[in-house]
Amino acid sequence: MRVLVTGGAGFIGSAVVRHLVIVKGYDVLTVDKLTYAGTLTSIKEVENRPNHRFLKADICDRSAITDAFASFRPDRVMHLAAESHVDRSITGARDFVETNVMGTFNMLECAREFWSRLPPAEKEAFRFLHVSTDEVYGSLGDEGLFTEETPYDPSSPYSASKASSDHLAKAWVRTYGLPVVVSNCSNNYGPYHFPEKLIPLMILNALEAKPLPVYGNGANIRDWLYVEDHARALDLIAERGRIGETYNVGGRNERRNIEVVERICTLMDTLHPTGAPHSRLITHVTDRPGHDARYAIDATKLETELGWKAQEDFDSGISKTVAWYLENRWWWEPLREGYSGGRLGLVEPQK
Ligand code: NAD
Repeated sequence: MRVLVTGGAGFIGSAVVRHLVIVKGYDVLTVDKLTYAGTLTSIKEVENRPNHRFLKADICDRSAITDAFASFRPDRVMHLAAESHVDRSITGARDFVETNVMGTFNMLECAREFWSRLPPAEKEAFRFLHVSTDEVYGSLGDEGLFTEETPYDPSSPYSASKASSDHLAKAWVRTYGLPVVVSNCSNNYGPYHFPEKLIPLMILNALEAKPLPVYGNGANIRDWLYVEDHARALDLIAERGRIGETYNVGGRNERRNIEVVERICTLMDTLHPTGAPHSRLITHVTDRPGHDARYAIDATKLETELGWKAQEDFDSGISKTVAWYLENRWWWEPLREGYSGGRLGLVEPQK
């Protein structure tokens, strides 16, 4: 099995690459531009494996991606490369439209060109998994869950660009017959999560006794999924998902943001005691514009049709994650030093 993974030097992509290369033994080509969010240190565990190769390329670059298809000849594409940080999309949407919309367009076109020339059996077996987010569905009230039938209603430039890319992916199935499957997942957390995102930011700020900036009153709810559970789900969806279908992925772990931050503080009190509770560092900051109130996923289709189940509950996953950051300074320190941050002189929190 040869799998071309885009965005494999990022947070979720690197978990996918580790899973495919180490657990499954597949041949993997990681294609990544190595933006600020991508680093080869995230896939260090596979660097010497004979079944892994890396190509530094922009998914918008037609000739580089065409060459990658021609030389690697993938059986499967798992497309994760994207600009992913909501706050950055608010201050600069251009990269999001270019990479998430035009980059996905280019991936679909290059895949179509390659797939259309395959012999019948390989053509039949080929799959393109387009990886997306639950943010395309907009915001929930107190009740209800996002299902695969929930209408799209994105709030931010990030989620609007992802929604656009999902529509392109679906259109390439209906118009050209390209065998695409789409997945929409809730918030991920776990090792190798870039230090600007909510959970790593809180762990590292707590470690350095810096303020823990929480948007508004911290009541926004996210449905957290451990990244390795997501990687397994994506492998399963790419292998057995039905062409043209969407699969929602979520861990049934709804938490208010403030609860997440308080849990991290409690864990830090044990793992990194300073004599004073870390919760004293919590600082409420002006809310993000267009901040969605609640995301929560109904993953019934994935669970019943493909037999997937999240293995990590939030309490064990968050404990492992805090411990991982405390033990892996080598990974995050160079990344954290690389930027100046936003409000409060800190990096903005949140997915
Ligand atoms: P990330 O920002 O950690 O990683 C993105 C990777 O894509 C980086 O390695 C970056 O270098 C690469 N990249 C960016 N632009 C590129 C380009 N033009 N060409 C080639 N590579 C490029 O993101 P992530 O959190 O790992 O998310 C991966 C995918 O999963 C995204 O499509 C995102 O929308 C989706 N997703 C993320 C979450 C989450 O909670 N993080 C949840 C659901 C879905």
